[in-house]
Amino acid sequence: MTEEPEIVERSSGYWIVDNGPIDGPFIELSEASKQLEKLSEIRRDAAYVKNPNFCPFCRSDEIDATKLETFENMVFQWVRCDTCETEWHDIYELTGYEEVIAGRE
Ligand SMILES: [Zn+2]
Repeated sequence: MTEEPEIVERSSGYWIVDNGPIDGPFIELSEASKQLEKLSEIRRDAAYVKNPNFCPFCRSDEIDATKLETFENMVFQWVRCDTCETEWHDIYELTGYEEVIAGRE
């Protein structure tokens, strides 16, 4: 996940290099562009979830997390980018629980 994927051209068409071999089937440039965009989006999402300290839309680190909202067993946090002014929700999901105070048996 270090190198950015890119489109390469071969005589029979185009291919997206994503740290893997160039083995086809080769595709149209428009299709390659679409796939590259999708792949970049998936990488961006994964990078943000791992380290949510930058704007996933413009990569600025001028972001502010504000109010928390809950819905069923999920929690949303509003986040806003001061640079591009995009707003989004960070989504938190219940992953477990721990006992804090033992109840009566
Ligand atoms: Zn931004």
